Amino acid sequence: MPDQPHDTPLCTCCHRELHTATPRVACQPCQDRMHDRLNTVEHNWLQLPSSLQRGAAPAGQGISTGRGSASGRLPLRLDVLSLAGPGSDTILGQLLAVEDDWRRARGFTVQTWRGSADQALPKVCRFLRNHLPWACEEYGDVDQLDQTLARLAGATTRILTGDRSRRVPVTCLAEYDDGTACGTQMLVDASTLSVVCGGCGARWSRADFQRLARAGQGMAA
Ligand SMILES: [Zn+2]
Ligand SMILES: [Zn+2]
Repeated sequence: MPDQPHDTPLCTCCHRELHTATPRVACQPCQDRMHDRLNTVEHNWLQLPSSLQRGAAPAGQGISTGRGSASGRLPLRLDVLSLAGPGSDTILGQLLAVEDDWRRARGFTVQTWRGSADQALPKVCRFLRNHLPWACEEYGDVDQLDQTLARLAGATTRILTGDRSRRVPVTCLAEYDDGTACGTQMLVDASTLSVVCGGCGARWSRADFQRLARAGQGMAA
């Protein structure tokens, strides 16, 4: 642990030093990121129903029939349902849990009825955006929202862009003592930051496996 002679406070989200005139618990860039991700999650939410039915709905029908009627014979995407459906693990459930925490911290009444999920989601996003400046100034657990939003923005964006289907195999080129290469295949995608080889246990960073992917293409050619 390095010395911190002046005991500079750290941002509770990104742990960088806070150099601000007025006290706060999270830095301005973190506040901006949370604000942007609230917009992203709200925006993605509106598009999830069209991803729920995997391309099987007649043109113009899949979206307008809405989330509640997606029960026909169409194949349902469980990953979308588990985010958009009812329950505490959904997008709405996770954001409502943060809203309830903030309401308790501020001494507000905790909402008990908020209407349907489609009615409630814009409201909870608006509440969190409106109270985000307060939370970044004085709510020490504001990083819970940061982590929740990172998960939700990532998961919903992956569903909408189909990123997961773009996982590519890369070959581990770690060398054993006898000079032979490991050769185990690892799957990575655009969001993978590091990967551990299942064969030899070597850990590869993003820069490493981008290099491995290029080397693999070169060998295949
Ligand atoms: Zn920060
Ligand atoms: Zn390996």
